[in-house]
Amino acid sequence: MTDEVVKKLPDWLKSFCVKSRVEKLCVSFLGGEPSIRMDLCLNLMESIYSKLNEVVRPYHGSWFMFFTNGDFLTDEALIEMSRYNTIVLYNPTYDSLEEIDRKLKLIKKRIRFCCMSVVIDGVNIGRLIEITDIALSNKVNLRLNPLYHPTSDYIHSLYEPLDSLFDHLISTDELIWPKLLLGSLYVGWGSRSISPYSYGSWLLVVDTDGSIRICSADDGTDIGDLSTISSIDDVKFDHSWNAKSIGLCQRCEWLSWCHGGHPLTRFSYYGSYNYPTPYCDLYKKLFPKWKSLLDKWESRKHGQMYM
Ligand code: SF4
Repeated sequence: MTDEVVKKLPDWLKSFCVKSRVEKLCVSFLGGEPSIRMDLCLNLMESIYSKLNEVVRPYHGSWFMFFTNGDFLTDEALIEMSRYNTIVLYNPTYDSLEEIDRKLKLIKKRIRFCCMSVVIDGVNIGRLIEITDIALSNKVNLRLNPLYHPTSDYIHSLYEPLDSLFDHLISTDELIWPKLLLGSLYVGWGSRSISPYSYGSWLLVVDTDGSIRICSADDGTDIGDLSTISSIDDVKFDHSWNAKSIGLCQRCEWLSWCHGGHPLTRFSYYGSYNYPTPYCDLYKKLFPKWKSLLDKWESRKHGQMYM
C-alpha cells in the first residue's frame, strides 16, 4: 500500500462510517503477504483503532482480520495484534505438516481467534485430513477455499478429498464449526438461518493504490477510490447477482445456504451470472454431510470454536 493511502485511510474510514451510519466494522488485511510490512500493518491497526473506536463497534468483538502464510509473524507482532482481538487466518500454503503445527502454536499462544484457512490446491488437496487434524489438535477451526476460477478437471478432483474430509469430520470426536467452504459460500453463524451472501452487499475492498472494489476476488468491480467514495450512498453495484433469478436455484432446497455460489465463479466459468455455480453438483453432494456437522454442533453446545 502506498504511503499516501496509508496516511489517508484511517480518516477516510472514519468519515465513511459516520456518514454511512456504520455500526460494526472489521478491517481485513489481505495479501500477497501483509506481514512482509508488519510495521505498516501494526501502524494502520493502531491508527484505525484510535480514530474509530468511539465511532463504531468491532464486528463480533474483533477489529481486524489478518490473512497470512505465517512466514513473517513474530511473537511481538502477535502480542500487538491481540490488543484488538485480531482474528488470524493462517494459510498453510506449502509448509510441511511440522511447520504448520509450529506456526499454529505460535499464533495460538497470543491470538484467541485463529483459523486454518486452506486454499484447496497444489499439495494441500492431497492432505486435507492431515491438515484438519493439526487444526483440531490445536483447537483451531477450519476454512476451506476452493478456487474462484475453477476448471472442470479441478472441480472433479475435489469430490473424493472433500467427501472423505466430511466423513472424517462427522466421525471424529472433535467438534468443528461447519462453516467450512468459504470463498464460494457463506454459511451463517450459530443457527440454520438464512445467511445472505456477503460479497457485493457489505464487503468493500480498498486496494493498495486507494481504488475501491466490492469483492476481494473480483477485479472487475472497481467502483471508485478514496476521493470519489465518501459514503455507502456512493457505492453503486452494476451486477445482478441474485441467485433467485436462476431457475434451478429457485427450486433448490439449499438456496438459503448456497445462494447460487460465488458470483465471480459463475461469471468466470460461464461468462454469465445467470447460471448456478459450477460447484453445484459437488455442493449438493456435500450439503447433507454439512447438515450432519451442524446437527453435531448443535447437540454439543460446549466449547465454541471461532470461525
Ligand atoms: S446447490 Fe446448485 S441449484 Fe442449489 S442454490 Fe446452489 S447453485 Fe443453485
